[in-house]
Amino acid sequence: MRPILDRMMPKVLLAEPRGFCAGVEMAIKALTWMVQTFEPPVYCYHEIVHNAAVVDAFERAGVVFVNEVADVPEGRPVMLSAHGSAPDVVAAAERRAAVTIDAVCPLVTKVHHEMRRMSDRGYDIIYVGHEGHDEAIGAIAEAPEAATLVDPVEGLGAFEPTDPGKVALLAQTTLGLFEWEGILSDAGERYPLLRTARKSDLCYATTNRQTAILRLAEEASVILVIGSENSSNTQALVRVAHMAGVRAYRVDGPDDVDPTWFDGDDIVGVTAGASAPDQRVRAVIDAVAPGGTVEVVRVTDEDEYFPLPPRLRTYVKTVQSLVEGAFAAPSPGAPGPIEDDRAWDASEALALLGVS
Ligand code: SF4
Repeated sequence: MRPILDRMMPKVLLAEPRGFCAGVEMAIKALTWMVQTFEPPVYCYHEIVHNAAVVDAFERAGVVFVNEVADVPEGRPVMLSAHGSAPDVVAAAERRAAVTIDAVCPLVTKVHHEMRRMSDRGYDIIYVGHEGHDEAIGAIAEAPEAATLVDPVEGLGAFEPTDPGKVALLAQTTLGLFEWEGILSDAGERYPLLRTARKSDLCYATTNRQTAILRLAEEASVILVIGSENSSNTQALVRVAHMAGVRAYRVDGPDDVDPTWFDGDDIVGVTAGASAPDQRVRAVIDAVAPGGTVEVVRVTDEDEYFPLPPRLRTYVKTVQSLVEGAFAAPSPGAPGPIEDDRAWDASEALALLGVS
């Protein structure tokens, strides 16, 4: 890639943590196992994660992404995306597909569970999220009569509960911290008996990446956030940087970087949303400051790990035991035994699929 700047290069501050969270790691590895285990095509309901490079890689590997389970031919394997699916979608997939693997993130499952629990107890539920986002659609479908979608920017508006003493507040996991806190404070004033999660529904990865970008904003004059347009947590990172008073741009990769955004006197912060491959991060840094200074700004360590869906592990083990030699001589970078899942990461999975 041609250097964007031929003159003085800016200094790069690289956020840590950034990029893949444990839910995305699990989902990418799970779909890679599907590709390795079943004859193509393998179907996936909704984008496995909201990142164009990841989706392209899986499409090249024989995955067909669909927006309706009815588009999965009967008897084919299907994976359900990390964002969580509506109960009727899960049921329809179970009826239609030969094998259904649900790659929902466990932290999204927790919100689904709370949605059912609060609804069963007769609460009206404020669900703070973005209309049309896969995660919001799946969560609200757990209790459509009880839940009201509230946009974090528009606020509570005309929300009217049946009983002001029985109101619960749940949220999309990938909102901005400031979005959650604003609604929480408004709802708490209106409904003093408000029920909500002890910390918040924002997941650890969302919170950590937002804390890291705030730290970048203390020094950087411009921030690049790597991630796709439909990635909610990526967009939240851009909004957090703007609120901190720093120019910030979302880029999918190096081709989106505009050289007029900064010059050699700038300090350029770089971070990535939870579904953006680290390969893209390296490529963007190479474009901004090839061979230049990169200083890592770490706000915390992450060691969360989400195991592969149990049903997937069972299938893969069965195939391995039935087909002598299956996965016995993997190509370089291929996964080892599925029991050793922790020894293999999603970046290696994507490298295997040709993402560099
Ligand atoms: Fe799960 Fe959080 Fe990652 Fe979403 S961003 S997949 S909730 S860990």
